[in-house]
Amino acid sequence: MRQVIVAGNWKLNGSLDSITSLISGIKVGLGEDNKARVIVCPVALHIGKVAKLIAGSAIELGSQNACDQTSGAYTGEVSVDMLKEYTVEHVILGHSERRAIYGETDALVAAKFKTVKDAGLTPILCVGETLEERESGDTENVVARQLDAVIETHGIEAMDGCIIAYEPVWAIGTGKTASPEQAQEIHQFIREKLAAKSADIAQKTQILYGGSVNGGNAEELFSKADIDGGLIGGASLKAEDFLKICSAAK
Ligand code: PEP
Repeated sequence: MRQVIVAGNWKLNGSLDSITSLISGIKVGLGEDNKARVIVCPVALHIGKVAKLIAGSAIELGSQNACDQTSGAYTGEVSVDMLKEYTVEHVILGHSERRAIYGETDALVAAKFKTVKDAGLTPILCVGETLEERESGDTENVVARQLDAVIETHGIEAMDGCIIAYEPVWAIGTGKTASPEQAQEIHQFIREKLAAKSADIAQKTQILYGGSVNGGNAEELFSKADIDGGLIGGASLKAEDFLKICSAAK
């Protein structure tokens, strides 16, 4: 049984004050009956602060990025060891914003994946197609290519313990959610792709959906057989909205 994961990707948002109230609101609102594993991913500069705010709670800490190199002359980067010093457990990799805006290639994402995994951190590997790719019938090819960049380079074993987030680019931050059926179809495709190499890893892997998830659509999305939770952008910035999504975990 895969426990539902609700991961908040705060992107480039928040101040010391606002993240303090956000975490406090989430902590107060997550009742004893919470069934979700909850992860928050602040900007790198806020990780130390958030680590202190969540200490002793069940909330887990994620980073939005990490360098593929472990140390040295890489100005502006953050290493996996630095993240670990602040109790980070998860790292989002290959988010479409990093691919599209910062030019991260499949090869770079695969290199980062290995560095993160070797450090004992959990990659949250984002995959997903643009609107143009969906309309030209290329969704599965794109998702397969993004997954293969990791699997063909590092082997299926590298996927053991990793989290995958299927995030159709056209649904991110647009208010247009993939229908639960559309999302389920691609989640099933991803799980079958993993199963072709390892039934065990396919069965264990948590596959999250991301793209305009909110309190109103989370429950139906999470009820689908291969949707194991969500990676949440906009709706993770207000405790009330985020908690509604957490409460959709059954
Ligand atoms: C995201 O950026 O990962 C995301 C899913 O954003 P939103 O929920 O705002 O669509």
